[in-house]
Amino acid sequence: MFKLTEHPHRRFNPLTREWVLVSPNRTERPWQGQVERVAAPDQPAYDPGCYLCPGNPRAGGAKNPQYTSTFVFENDFAALRPDTPDGNWNQDGLLVAEAEPGLCRVVCFSPRHDLTVAKMEHPELRTVVNTWVEQYVELGARPAIQYVQIFENRGEMMGCSNPHPHGQIWCNRSLPNEIAREQASQLAYLEEKRGCLLCSYLALERGSGARIVCENEWFTVLVPFWALWPFETMLIAKRHLTAIDQMHDAEREGLADILGRITRRYENLFDVSFPYSFGFHQRPTDGGEHAEWHLHAHFLPPLLRSATVRKFMVGYELLAMPQRDITAETAAERLRTLSETIA
Ligand SMILES: [Zn+2]
Ligand SMILES: [Zn+2]
Ligand SMILES: [Zn+2]
Repeated sequence: MFKLTEHPHRRFNPLTREWVLVSPNRTERPWQGQVERVAAPDQPAYDPGCYLCPGNPRAGGAKNPQYTSTFVFENDFAALRPDTPDGNWNQDGLLVAEAEPGLCRVVCFSPRHDLTVAKMEHPELRTVVNTWVEQYVELGARPAIQYVQIFENRGEMMGCSNPHPHGQIWCNRSLPNEIAREQASQLAYLEEKRGCLLCSYLALERGSGARIVCENEWFTVLVPFWALWPFETMLIAKRHLTAIDQMHDAEREGLADILGRITRRYENLFDVSFPYSFGFHQRPTDGGEHAEWHLHAHFLPPLLRSATVRKFMVGYELLAMPQRDITAETAAERLRTLSETIA
């Protein structure tokens, strides 16, 4: 019988129904690859050249107000627009396209240019959580919006050149690929097992503890059994909530708490302002009840062994299937040993 800690194997992701190749011990191989520049430390609290700082002009011509908390605005160079003309394109079922109306917003988490989620105080994170809920409710109520994707891209390595703490909200009329995939899996599980996929999964993980990173009363952070990225984690609501609008006050507190704790662990992992993509997955806003959906978020960080060595998804990963070297259990153990305060 193969051992998860020793032998190459593949693991199944029940949310996407895809497999990931796991090759333990392969990190020992010599490395001659790209060394990433470590991000410049010490940002100023206010940067006159930043298009997100209070009072500054943006590239589109608008000027930011002197905001003192969170600040939301429509993206000046939006990938999705509400005024998109409708229509379909179909040639023999092979050349298929359809109009995609939507909306893109930017959420500044703080007026302070030099902060990150990891450096923000609990009350500030609590305000960000409230803003996300308000946006989800407001945008989701629009008939043309079926899905509200709340996310953050952090760090130059992730293609985000502005260090000002901010996230984005993209809304679509159609379900994005990842959401459609996870929805189909959760729905099939609910119909087959008469239960929730992620409630069952979370119970298994909490029983074993091997992949748990940290928890509070309302949320658990773990390295999923099927993680692709070296230090990928999932943040899962302990109660069966279908979306963030179902959180009561204590859960909102709990979410702000756990976000601060996991991002500070990440900062301490390689002693660097940690790059990642983060985003919620939750109930579509098409008016359905969607009992199959279980609120969770994904942290997808690209770093592998140090602040300067990143994981690339290339070659075999792009052409065949994703592959990882350190196991999810080893990654979780590493994250568990880290402090939740930044020195
Ligand atoms: Zn700024
Ligand atoms: Zn559930
Ligand atoms: Zn998900």
